[in-house]
Amino acid sequence: MIGGGVIGTSVAYHLGHMGMKDVLLLERDRLTSGTTWHAAGLMATFGSTSQTSTELRQYTRDLYARLEAETGLATGLKQCGLIELAIEPGRLEEYRRVSQFNRLLGVDVHEISPREVAELWPLARTDDVLAGFYVPEDGRVNPVDVTMSLARGARMQGVTIVEGVTVTGFSRDHGTVAGVRTDHGDIEAEYVVNCAGMWARQLGELAGVSIPLQAAEHYYLLTEPIEGVDGSWPVLEDPASFGYYREEGGGLMLGMFEPVCAPWHVDGIPAEFSFGELPPDWDRMGPYLEKTMARVPVTEEIGIRKFFCGPESFTPDLLPVIGEAPELKNYFVAAGLNSIGILTGGGIGRTVAQWIVDGSPDIDVTAMNIDRLQPYQANPEYRATRTVESLGLVYATHYPFRPTKTARKARLSPIYDRLAARRACFRDVSGWEGADWYAPEGVEPGVGELTWGRPAWFGYWEAEHHATRNGVIVMDMSFMAKFLVQGRDAARELERISANQVAAEPGRITYTQWLNERGTLEADLTVTMLDDEQFFVVASDTAHRHAETWMRRHIGDAHAFVTDVTSGYAQINVQGPLSRELMSVVTNADMSNEALPFRAARFIDIGFARVLCIRITYLGELGYELHIPAEQAAAVYDRLVAAGEPHGLRHAGLKALASLRMEKAYRDYGHDIDNTDSVLESGLGFAVALEKPGGFIGRDAVAAQKAAGPLRRRLVQVLLSDPEPLLFHAEVVCRNGRPAGYIRSASYGFTLGGAVGLAMIDADEPISQRYLDEGEWSVRIGDATYPARASLRPLYDPASKRVQM
Ligand SMILES: Cc1cc2nc3c(=O)[nH]c(=O)nc-3n(C[C@H](O)[C@H](O)[C@H](O)COP(=O)(O)OP(=O)(O)OC[C@H]3O[C@@H](n4cnc5c(N)ncnc54)[C@H](O)[C@@H]3O)c2cc1C
Repeated sequence: MIGGGVIGTSVAYHLGHMGMKDVLLLERDRLTSGTTWHAAGLMATFGSTSQTSTELRQYTRDLYARLEAETGLATGLKQCGLIELAIEPGRLEEYRRVSQFNRLLGVDVHEISPREVAELWPLARTDDVLAGFYVPEDGRVNPVDVTMSLARGARMQGVTIVEGVTVTGFSRDHGTVAGVRTDHGDIEAEYVVNCAGMWARQLGELAGVSIPLQAAEHYYLLTEPIEGVDGSWPVLEDPASFGYYREEGGGLMLGMFEPVCAPWHVDGIPAEFSFGELPPDWDRMGPYLEKTMARVPVTEEIGIRKFFCGPESFTPDLLPVIGEAPELKNYFVAAGLNSIGILTGGGIGRTVAQWIVDGSPDIDVTAMNIDRLQPYQANPEYRATRTVESLGLVYATHYPFRPTKTARKARLSPIYDRLAARRACFRDVSGWEGADWYAPEGVEPGVGELTWGRPAWFGYWEAEHHATRNGVIVMDMSFMAKFLVQGRDAARELERISANQVAAEPGRITYTQWLNERGTLEADLTVTMLDDEQFFVVASDTAHRHAETWMRRHIGDAHAFVTDVTSGYAQINVQGPLSRELMSVVTNADMSNEALPFRAARFIDIGFARVLCIRITYLGELGYELHIPAEQAAAVYDRLVAAGEPHGLRHAGLKALASLRMEKAYRDYGHDIDNTDSVLESGLGFAVALEKPGGFIGRDAVAAQKAAGPLRRRLVQVLLSDPEPLLFHAEVVCRNGRPAGYIRSASYGFTLGGAVGLAMIDADEPISQRYLDEGEWSVRIGDATYPARASLRPLYDPASKRVQM
């Protein structure tokens, strides 16, 4: 472990407990000297719609509660409660939705009235409060005491902790980390964990590992003592006032998350910065501070003891950076905590330690895994630009479809300008500008007012959806990750990695999962066999580096070579029942069902371009994926559009992609399926070639689960009967009034006539369609409950007739 903050000591503590021998933690200065020493120590289990994040918080709180009994050192945990204020209707709706989800996971949260808020927090202004959300078991902790207690607990398990040693470099051996260099000499190591907080990026660079995080100014204000303030009061949070409030030294601490923040030292964090503070920027913070103080009016009159500013690291998507670096095997990272390093530190430490000990994580890490990020995101300009927005998003109302505003246009499809001219409304798709929907003539493309209801552009989205179901559309998906895998052993290696049979026949695409030995999902993608020694692998943008690393590491020394060709090919989809007609106009290739059946892949000519045309769909209709050399993409697009006009060709965006695929219950890795799900629970058994010669990674686990009998955990499609409400994510799904799971991802089924989602359902009996039919299903959205249908087969075109026509 490099770094003796809360994260490094937590990883060390857990490795010690898991029986790892020869564990060494190196700290440059003294424990806590980076960011940990000055954290405010809020402990909140409420507020996230991520199961992973909520469980990390719960584990952390439980750990801090029991640590003193184990180590003899108190953590300062005070379960004085936490109140979140809702001032505007949008926030109230958010918290009601979150409450349902958090309760499902065991968080004891209560909605309380403004009067009850005033009783618990008499100094707060409550006349504009709509409601409070109160968690009696949350509260605060002392971050230094936590770290010292974790360090002692680690030492008790045989971990060595050395202060005053700086790591200055790394040694490597065949793509695997082999040790660290320090200012006191070299040390060999089988594993290295970079827990260097805001220094982690610079330290990563020394090993060739890209860690896109950036320190930013982070503030709290301490007042002089105030009469009547009581240390037993709950922590109060009012995101609308950018502030949180708790007792400190008889006065108050006012912590802040301002909407526009200031990155600190983009050029590099000074090596000698220890127990450091930054001079507060009163001019910049003044207006925000006024608003924060107004929630507790007494603070406007009382003396200020200190306006504290310290740096904390933020990441491009406000999620931590955890896991094994794609660039270097056995080099782990646990950093970029976005101001919740204390309240998730226990869980993060446990997860990273368990990942090292067992070889793969036991919770869903798809959103936190370091390999979701791209190296370019560590660029100074990218960090400087994006970080301005990151910190403020902590306290923004988390409306659906909220666009990121900064660091846009980092990656552009070759037909970006053409789509912009068609009035595409773009959103950030792993840094690409993804066309989300198209505004009609005379309408400015823009997200408009954020809402939990139907957005202003709902009708445009609907029209694109129906055009795909009934006519023909063109959709740019150039952001998809594309790899060429070539060599004498390519077929053998891809067969070993893939659960489905992918090398049966040249000119054929195969949908497959990649599994780990436990039989849970590592990737969900397609493999197209071009010829005996050449394969084309396509994965989603978020799985780009995970899929690539998984391939490279598993191929090892075999004669098979992976080339990332994402930038080399645009991907344009032509989909819909009229797509064959259109394709027949732009190419002289035979597009008939006989010549080009479902799953066929051929090189065809369109104008001057030679295009890889694959008959496949993610939308549930007859359709084609065209992979076009990037420099010819614009010309091919122009041909398609010119030829398509007489056929009523429309442009469709990624919102339509979401609604179309959800009606067909096509899965999306990292959204509705993840690394904790088995391929059978995910309903993807049809894509597993259990008996193929040579087997595949994870085969035994799949066979064992199959042999164990009918499943009691299955991914189920859920459709609301009422056409009005919308589903987004994390809504609780009930069977006979009892919670059975939650919506992992959702959209609106314009053809099915209601909101539709996918939920992982747990039951104490086998889950069959009969079990689903015999139950009464409903979904809780905020305070309302809506009847629903649940199905194992896709509700739209269950026999896939339209896809094969
Ligand atoms: C004002 C403020 C308020 C906050 N309030 C809260 C809160 O209420 N709740 C919450 O959960 N979080 C809060 N945070 C965030 C929290 O403090 C951080 O997320 C957390 O401390 C990060 O811990 P860390 O171990 O990753 O980093 P650090 O504590 O910075 O530890 C990294 C360590 O690595 C060491 N190091 C660096 N380079 C090297 C090297 N080359 N060799 C050896 N050692 C090295 C450093 O000396 C340092 O000790 C707050 C942060 C700030 C700034």
